[in-house]
Amino acid sequence: MTTRARTEDDGHARWTFRLRVSSTARAALMGEWDRCRWLWNECVAKSKQTHLWNKNRPAGVAKQTCGPAQLDKMLTEARTRMSWLREGSSVVQQQVIRDFGKSKAKAHKDIRERLPMRQRAGMPRWKKRREARPTLNYTRRGFRLKDGRLHLAGGIVLTPVWSRNFSADPSSVRVYQDSTGAWYASFVVAAETEPLAKTGRVIGIDWGVKETATTTSDEHDLPHAQHGKTAAHKLARYQRMMGRRKPAKGQAGSKGYRKAKAQTAKLHQKVARQRQDTARKWAKKVVRDHDALAVEDFRPKFLAKTTMARKAADAAISATKTALIEMGRKHGRDVRLVHPAHTTMDCAQCGARTKHALPLSERTYACTACGAVSPRDKNSARVMLVRAGLDPASADRGSPHGALPRLAA
Ligand SMILES: [Zn+2]
Repeated sequence: MTTRARTEDDGHARWTFRLRVSSTARAALMGEWDRCRWLWNECVAKSKQTHLWNKNRPAGVAKQTCGPAQLDKMLTEARTRMSWLREGSSVVQQQVIRDFGKSKAKAHKDIRERLPMRQRAGMPRWKKRREARPTLNYTRRGFRLKDGRLHLAGGIVLTPVWSRNFSADPSSVRVYQDSTGAWYASFVVAAETEPLAKTGRVIGIDWGVKETATTTSDEHDLPHAQHGKTAAHKLARYQRMMGRRKPAKGQAGSKGYRKAKAQTAKLHQKVARQRQDTARKWAKKVVRDHDALAVEDFRPKFLAKTTMARKAADAAISATKTALIEMGRKHGRDVRLVHPAHTTMDCAQCGARTKHALPLSERTYACTACGAVSPRDKNSARVMLVRAGLDPASADRGSPHGALPRLAA
């Protein structure tokens, strides 16, 4: 049920720098992006086609596969056929196929693990010209650093605004444009670990809406910071402006529309920075004070239908969870992710499970089997510890409030 914290760049950190991009370089990057986007969409089409064919295939006929080998072949054929595609770097195009494969594998894994619908990574989808932002991924043989400049395959030269020196050679780089139009290079570098002193304490962490994190230690709970609440009325104003100036379908937006859109993006970025700042400070404290962390592996999915408040809460959880995993890894702590299923229904004392999920309004968990009564989120945080195989007694050490009260029989 639990896994060690691991993402695709396990043991690695991302170092991101702003880029200065000449107009020649910008045109070249956009050309590469057009080709990559076309290729990605070809992968989506081919994958859908194979799925459909398999579904309707005659009895007794073997299934077709649409894995990296088939997509590689497709790319080779397309490059032979189209000079336009050949003009682009093959390194970056091969990476599109790998990224597509990863994205599809992730969606399949979530289905296999029967994650709730809202937490699943969806199947890879079309990248539309107006909506998808330019992103190019280069592996080791697709870039080099020389005289402070970043040289990409295909002769594209960019100038990063350096703010620190690499501790090791970067193994890959992602060049992308954010929603404000600025370009960045994000390098993957092997992370240095800075071990901390052992504390003999462990902690269980449950994510939520009102309190971003409820933990088995009272001093480490994190209330929802309400970042974005002050920005909300500004945001509403920009959105009304955008609504009035919304271009017809297929038309480019007016100057006023683009301005409102850029202001919205800037505001979102500001809120995201505040969120990250709060998350990092909290993560540092949690990691400093505990040897092992049992963390609910909650994956918010940003659905269009959810309320603004819920979106803000989910964004806070995402930022905080990421910061915690990164901080834990950096300092050599034991971070264990716990599958979120039924954590609100189980009793942390005796392991009994209630028949029905508690309604969100019910803030107290009362166990009918053993009589334990505790605040609902505190019970869940403790369930994380138990599920992760950590000793709840090590959570109570040094904290007189850690023990759960019991009802007199
Ligand atoms: Zn119980």
